[in-house]
Amino acid sequence: MKRPPRRWLLWGALLLLVVVLLGVLVFLAAEYEESRDQEALERDASALAGDIRNGLVRNVQTLQALHSVAPTADSWQDPAAEVLDQHRELVRLEWRDAGLRLVAERDSSYVSGLYGQMSRAQALPDVRQACESAQRVSGPSFSPSYFWPMSSGLGMELMEMCLPVVRTGAAEGYLVATYALPGLLSELTNKALLRNRGLAFTEVDGTRLALYSAVTGNRLQVASALLDLPGHTLVLRLESPRRVAGLFPNVLTAVVGALSLALLAVLVLLGRDMRRRQRAETEVAEALAFRKAMENSLVTGLRARDMNGRVTYVNPAFCQMVGFSASELIGSGLPAPWWPPELVNEYQQRQAVRLAGQVLPREGYESVFQRKDGTRFPVLIIEAPLIDAQGTQTGFMSAILDLSEQRRVEELNRASQERLQATARLATVGEMASLLSHELNQPLAAIASYASGSLNLLEDPDAPPDLLRQAMQRVSEQAERAGRVIKSVADFVRRREQVREAVAPAALLDAILPLLGLQAKKLDIRVETRIASGCPAVLCDRTMVEQVLLNLARNGMQAMPDGDPPLASGLRSIQIHIAPRRPQSADGEPLRKTWVEFAVTDHGKGLSDEVREKLFTPFFTTKAEGMGLGLSLCRTVIEQHGGALTFEPAQPRGTVFRFTLPAADSLSSRP
Ligand code: ADP
Repeated sequence: MKRPPRRWLLWGALLLLVVVLLGVLVFLAAEYEESRDQEALERDASALAGDIRNGLVRNVQTLQALHSVAPTADSWQDPAAEVLDQHRELVRLEWRDAGLRLVAERDSSYVSGLYGQMSRAQALPDVRQACESAQRVSGPSFSPSYFWPMSSGLGMELMEMCLPVVRTGAAEGYLVATYALPGLLSELTNKALLRNRGLAFTEVDGTRLALYSAVTGNRLQVASALLDLPGHTLVLRLESPRRVAGLFPNVLTAVVGALSLALLAVLVLLGRDMRRRQRAETEVAEALAFRKAMENSLVTGLRARDMNGRVTYVNPAFCQMVGFSASELIGSGLPAPWWPPELVNEYQQRQAVRLAGQVLPREGYESVFQRKDGTRFPVLIIEAPLIDAQGTQTGFMSAILDLSEQRRVEELNRASQERLQATARLATVGEMASLLSHELNQPLAAIASYASGSLNLLEDPDAPPDLLRQAMQRVSEQAERAGRVIKSVADFVRRREQVREAVAPAALLDAILPLLGLQAKKLDIRVETRIASGCPAVLCDRTMVEQVLLNLARNGMQAMPDGDPPLASGLRSIQIHIAPRRPQSADGEPLRKTWVEFAVTDHGKGLSDEVREKLFTPFFTTKAEGMGLGLSLCRTVIEQHGGALTFEPAQPRGTVFRFTLPAADSLSSRP
């Protein structure tokens, strides 16, 4: 199946979105990381500035103490040297009087040649500025920093601090401390904060004044903090190399990335699931289409009803059968639109029985439906309970077969069966035509001879008139006999409507005996008949039963050709015995219904096994001129009457064919 390109577009857009989202997240995370680093750097810069300020404040206290322990210029020297030893950031201490004249001085032993290149006097303006300021604020004050070249060709950024010296309430001049800015950076800062970082004092415009450490590289993060001192403000600059940003610069990005990947994986799985679902849907749709096609091609009507008898489903065949559209039928309750109005009550009861949980007959039941146009038609309904997935019954499913066509075929069959029987009768008659003509010859010859005798008598005036009457009587008798022979054949052949009437067994025999007599005479066979006394009349279609009797008797005679059995054996006879039979029930009680049994016995060659098997098969015959229809028709006729046709060997040879017919009085006495 070709997938529509729109799906790929959607997937592409989704992937792009996820990638963009991932990119934005990585970028934001990096930004966040950087700003966090920047904040930390600025915090550290402030902390370092604080360190330096605190150091300076502590130094002020130390220097104030210096004067309280050393009141004279001489005694001042040692403690001043000690202070300088302990505080390497200080390069020089001076004691100056109120006019800023030098009282005592001391240089740090760590820095040599500080005043080799330029004399100290050069720094005096700065000292003065600081001391004036100190005087004003009565506290320590700093001068602006200045570069001091040194003899080694190098130089150093220095800064003066002036502290008014007060002893026992009287001003005693100033203590001037010269700070080296590099010293401030190296001595007063917390080294832990300086690992891998660059620290420097700069001008406001960024010009570097003093450097403690430097970092290289062009990706630097810089933070500045102001070191606000009385009289002067310095800018402390802290530098740090920017952290190398990888694909996932930190855990957050990694987590987000992992989540995005997981999201993608879930999407892929979802996509696969969707595809599988779609495939299943297609399969279901195909199965549905297949089912639909199957339903549409069905000629059997299908109908589903819920437990209240409301129609929930009908197939096209059912709609076509009853002439209603599916929309008219679905949802319709009881009485159903296809119920003939006069049968509604009966059908309602049937429905009630079904709803009461009765088992439905597997083979179905017949019913009559009414089409929308009012016409009726017979149907066969096969019903089964509808069970849902939970195993509870939700209604009934019925398959409905239109029996109209079947009935039509049955009717056709019946008609052709009748025609076949008529044909068989005609065939029998045809067969007998030669016998008839032969037999008619006798009365005709007799009539002719009586007629010529009569003519002779008429010509003889002496002839007694009685003789003539007698001759005429004979003529008339023979003519009647010929007429009877012809009538018996005509009666037999005439096709009549099937009627059941009470017929005395004797009447049946009388009807066939003349015809039988013809053949019997030719074959030298005796026809013996016996009717049990009190034998009731039988309820039958007279013509048909006569034909059965005739067929059986004729078959019997045909089984006894000339000389088999020989005349001398005394067996050249057929017997027709008629007697009532009252079958008994299992407990020996005679049943109400009475039957009359007809037995036709011959002493012919009997039935071979092969013949016995095919006896009732239509068109089975062993005779050259036979049609093979006789026995099959006999059985059909007897079964149509509710009786049975059987056969068995006769004693000492031959065959007995027996059949039963219902007695007429047994029916009338039925409860
Ligand atoms: P048909 O008489 O036209 O042959 P039937 O159906 O009457 O047709 O008989 C079928 C065959 O059964 C006969 O051809 C014959 O071989 C055999 N048959 C019928 N009745 C007898 C009988 N009483 N004795 C021996 N064979 C018989």
